[in-house]
Amino acid sequence: MDPKSAWFAGGLQFSCTQCGDCCTGDPGYVWMNDQEIAEIARFLNVPEREVREYYGKKGVKGITLREKSNGECVFFEKGKGCIIYEVRPTQCRTWPFWEGNIRNPSAWAKTCEICPGSGTGALISAEEIVTRARLTKV
Ligand code: SF4
Ligand code: SF4
Repeated sequence: MDPKSAWFAGGLQFSCTQCGDCCTGDPGYVWMNDQEIAEIARFLNVPEREVREYYGKKGVKGITLREKSNGECVFFEKGKGCIIYEVRPTQCRTWPFWEGNIRNPSAWAKTCEICPGSGTGALISAEEIVTRARLTKV
């Protein structure tokens, strides 16, 4: 995807409102690679194994974060938000600029419907959007 010729060449707006909707609600997958697991373990001062097996679980693409019975991410706390924000996985950092969300204007419009911070606020450049999308293969 070339940022200069992309339909969003002029950039897209996004400023997170901290609503927490993307960390709660319907089940989904948040994949963690080995480096991310190690960083989270260091941050929480727990063994990596605990991150893999207690906070995470095996899925088809590797280790994914567990969810609580109410659908919240295991690292989401009401009133606090993400308790590992500084070391959250790349997939969380790059939202909402995932390939599927920026494929075309209608995919982006759907993203804006589910994420109140999308389509409003700071203008993110096309180059930055493509960089984030390349980092995340969901
Ligand atoms: S849904 Fe969007 S606005 Fe709400 S916390 Fe997630 S990224 Fe931020
Ligand atoms: S790790 Fe943090 S940012 Fe990512 S889904 Fe969980 S609570 Fe949200």
